[in-house]
Amino acid sequence: MTAPQRPPRRIVIVGAGLAGASAAAALREQGFDGDVTLFGQEGHDPYELPPLSKGVLLGERDASDLVREAGYYDDHDIALCRDTTVTAVRPADHLIVDADGAEHGYDRLLLATGSRPRTLPGFDGPGVYTLRTLDDSLALREKLTDGARVVIVGAGWVGCEVASAARAHGAHVTMLDPAPLPLRHVLGDRVGAVFRDLHADHGVTLRLGVKATGTRDGGRTVHLDDGGELPADVVVVGVGALPRTELAQAAGLDLAAGGVAVDAALRTSAPDVYAAGDIAAHDHPRYEGRVRVEHWANAKEQGAHVAGNLLGGHDAYDADPYFFSDQYDLGCEYRGLADPARDELVLRGEPASREFLAFWLRDGRVTAALNVNSWDHGDALTALVATRARVSAQRLTEADPHTLTTGDAAPRR
Ligand SMILES: Cc1cc2nc3c(=O)[nH]c(=O)nc-3n(C[C@H](O)[C@H](O)[C@H](O)COP(=O)(O)OP(=O)(O)OC[C@H]3O[C@@H](n4cnc5c(N)ncnc54)[C@H](O)[C@@H]3O)c2cc1C
Repeated sequence: MTAPQRPPRRIVIVGAGLAGASAAAALREQGFDGDVTLFGQEGHDPYELPPLSKGVLLGERDASDLVREAGYYDDHDIALCRDTTVTAVRPADHLIVDADGAEHGYDRLLLATGSRPRTLPGFDGPGVYTLRTLDDSLALREKLTDGARVVIVGAGWVGCEVASAARAHGAHVTMLDPAPLPLRHVLGDRVGAVFRDLHADHGVTLRLGVKATGTRDGGRTVHLDDGGELPADVVVVGVGALPRTELAQAAGLDLAAGGVAVDAALRTSAPDVYAAGDIAAHDHPRYEGRVRVEHWANAKEQGAHVAGNLLGGHDAYDADPYFFSDQYDLGCEYRGLADPARDELVLRGEPASREFLAFWLRDGRVTAALNVNSWDHGDALTALVATRARVSAQRLTEADPHTLTTGDAAPRR
């Protein structure tokens, strides 16, 4: 029989982003009165990233949304160590080391180090930007001026949102991607085409099926793999993010799916060490294989959830992925996890109208749902994905979405 675990007195969190700060707050909300120390590399209070490619980049605001209001950490006796990089984790000794060489012991440790933007070799110079932090967003915003020539490398979520903000500032925007459609790997051809047309209608020049191979003159010229060149005042590299696993890797923790391997309860392979947010490659109880999600809701909810486990719980995290995006006058939410190359697409409404629902079905069950400029059925779509009900394509297109979670066994209206 194993001895019961002693309750922790010292909890250390590495990474003062959305997952880390949400966990710190949840520890206090759950009544933990021991030490909570939150280490963050940046000088700001913990903030959310989505406004960085939306309101901040659009110039509507100069700051992002804070994870908790100013003063919260002091008021709740959470030691927020700003401008402090953690350089090593020593699980065998139950301590971490900061950049000054100071050692900090823990009873339980949460790693929530998030991601860094993926960069591309050959893209460098003062005119080349990536977007991850508030400082990145403010610096890029300065350059998105009326008439500036902006080349965006990568037509993923961040690239599409930057394109939208750049057009709002009157910049000339070219967006490049080797894929034939924006967001194709997430949304497939039919829905990806909606985003292609959206950007084209807003004056973005799309160069799809073309790869940018590098820059010259500090980012003033972009080379393409078809031999072409594009002049640029600003180049934004938006080709995805890389989870920051280096601390975990150096500490000998198991890695998987590009992140830190965690079990259903978000425990890593090292005793008393947990991981949450972008870095967590999660053994999700409701999906096959590891699930690693780089989205806002996952970081916020895993952060809050893992607090209970840091305090001795063993609860599995089983929420479905969720994300949202805003581009021009299009807003959308996506719930679940589909493979558009494999799953059947069912559309409700006319995609060209940019107000529609999309469902992806596998073996008759909804793997994901997308609502575009349609806001009445969010809870029903969440439940539909969560229950994995069997629903026919016909019912998805015809029935009241609120009745769908009962599946096809339910009487038809
Ligand atoms: C521009 C942008 C727009 C986005 N928009 C959306 C959106 O519209 N919808 C959506 O669902 N998702 C969006 N996302 C994704 C979402 O914001 C992220 O998935 C989420 O913030 C991840 O949270 P996290 O806590 O895991 O990591 P982060 O928020 O990245 O936080 C990690 C923190 O850890 C710190 N850190 C790392 N290593 C160390 C270390 N060694 N020592 C100390 N501190 C360290 C970092 O500095 C960082 O502050 C967006 C992301 C970006 C970049």
